[in-house]
Amino acid sequence: MSVLFSELLVPGWADEKIGLDAVTGTYSDGSSFNLPCHTADPELFFSEADLAIAEAKSLCGGCPVRAQCLEGAISRAEPAGVWGGELFEDGRVIAKKRKAGRPSLSEVAAREEEAA
Ligand code: SF4
Repeated sequence: MSVLFSELLVPGWADEKIGLDAVTGTYSDGSSFNLPCHTADPELFFSEADLAIAEAKSLCGGCPVRAQCLEGAISRAEPAGVWGGELFEDGRVIAKKRKAGRPSLSEVAAREEEAA
């Protein structure tokens, strides 16, 4: 499978697209960095399991572009995944994944309060 360079560009970061050179490279002291999500198992960042989600958030904690990543994910209203150390669902940051089944009354009330 080949990937076009344009497919590697991410829309929504400060209203411009960024390339891989913006998220991989070198610090001012000359040392190089790789983003944690580029070297870890990608499934961690899109898992349904609380443990994997916590691990992904932890990896983001040491990321040099965490703030920009979070800003971009918010601007794109990411539908899912861990971005910038936060878990997204339907474009919103959520504290944790809801388990299967009917939501509790308090969860429903909280969502309705948020929407109002
Ligand atoms: S903050 Fe963003 S770029 Fe950094 S590891 Fe997490 S998901 Fe990847």
